[in-house]
Amino acid sequence: MTPSEAIRVAPPVAASGATVADAARIPAAEIPVAEGASCHGGAAQMKSAAAAAGKSEVLDRYATDYPKGPHDQPQSMCPAFGSLRVGLRMRRTATVLSGSACCVYGLTFTSHFYGARRTVGYVPFDSETLVTGKLFEDIREAVFKLADPTNNDAVVVINLCVPTASGVPLDLLPKEINGVRIIGIDVPGFGVPTHAEAKDVLAGAMLRYARNEAERGPVAQPQQGRSARPTVSLVGEMFPVDAVGIGRLLEPLGLAAGPVVPTREWRELYAALDCAAVAMIHPFYVASCREFQAAGRPCVGSAPVGYEGTAAWLESIADACNVPRERLDAARNAILPAIRGALAAAPIDARITLSGYEGSELLVARVLVESGADLRYVGTACGRTRWSDADREWLESKGVTVRYRASLEDDLAAMHEFRPDLAIGTTPVVQKAKELAIPSLYFTNLISARPLMGPAGAGSLSQVINAALRNRERFAKMQSFFEGVGSADNAGVWEQAPAGLRVAGGAA
Ligand code: SF4
Repeated sequence: MTPSEAIRVAPPVAASGATVADAARIPAAEIPVAEGASCHGGAAQMKSAAAAAGKSEVLDRYATDYPKGPHDQPQSMCPAFGSLRVGLRMRRTATVLSGSACCVYGLTFTSHFYGARRTVGYVPFDSETLVTGKLFEDIREAVFKLADPTNNDAVVVINLCVPTASGVPLDLLPKEINGVRIIGIDVPGFGVPTHAEAKDVLAGAMLRYARNEAERGPVAQPQQGRSARPTVSLVGEMFPVDAVGIGRLLEPLGLAAGPVVPTREWRELYAALDCAAVAMIHPFYVASCREFQAAGRPCVGSAPVGYEGTAAWLESIADACNVPRERLDAARNAILPAIRGALAAAPIDARITLSGYEGSELLVARVLVESGADLRYVGTACGRTRWSDADREWLESKGVTVRYRASLEDDLAAMHEFRPDLAIGTTPVVQKAKELAIPSLYFTNLISARPLMGPAGAGSLSQVINAALRNRERFAKMQSFFEGVGSADNAGVWEQAPAGLRVAGGAA
């Protein structure tokens, strides 16, 4: 399927579950259609429409899980991208969007920009199919078509803003068809503030489904079999080397690294739930954490970053898994000197401001501080949870300002206030820094795509940061060369033909 290809199939013969009539829980005339509203405006209207259409419960849950900050609109990419990415990265999983064509276009584009190499399913709608409940019927038909156990373990349907605001009831889809799990989630921009947190919406829904399956009876083993040692599941997308590195840190404790959540295939969800403890590497996975806790698994915040972070994290993991003290001491003695050495060998001597929307900003900040950087500000678009408390407290004790739900305005104000040697941030922050001739690095592509944990992470940032710092002079030259270009009366309005291009009869 492509975004332009409607899924239109014959209605299933033995369709279990809801129909158009069930979907029309509210008379069509009363459905507050939110068509036309978007993330550029109309959030309040969308929200009240969604509440009136029966989505209050899910919106209330999102408001608790992902409390909003100073801005009530996403300031980065469409949040649904997070859920879409989690679905697309999972093997034998079909992911279908239900939303406005323009939103789906953007989401599909972004997915392929980030190398999805997978089909994005799309069920289109118009005003009529939206208000009559026919859209729900179309989605159901699409789901039946995709529920082929030879190809798929799961089908994920994601309601974007308009279908959520219009109350399209994905909860009325069958929970399973031919053994294929069906998962419907609402991921509106007016309910989920960042794409990071939208990853949690789908990861949490999948863990819940898998937990219920495991509670009902035996489930599939991991492909590679079960670990002989108790495992620690790792929550948060991370650089692949980091998962391997964490495994090495756990080994002397008598533990092994479990699956990374979001997982890459369905059966890994069971293995993730079957752990001794959960490492909340990325602290915003609130719904996922709820499922682990419902399965009786202790969760541990922070991550093994830098010397002090790794020392504290090993201790927390040892506590959660009842590892004897002498074993913990042996593990720390084995690893910490190597981290100290790696940090000392790759120092950073610069004033830095840091911001991003991946949710790992505080961890990066710790490594920077331990590398010697004069870090003044960390802004994260994600909300505050208890799983990053240790990192926040540690950073604040070093004089770093930590801002959760940081807006672009907060990040820019910090850059103006602290005049850093290097600004690490999102695209608009980097853009602004370049205008000011401040060397800058894009967090998502250049910082979060490097190892961060344990000895591999210590010192890995310094290479890219020190290279960027060496550009300062070049930036200053460019700034003086382009001074004034593109602003005020040099903003591109040509009042005369360029010199040398005059032709007979007038200007060319
Ligand atoms: S689905 Fe995403 S792109 Fe579309 S209106 Fe909502 S937040 Fe904006």
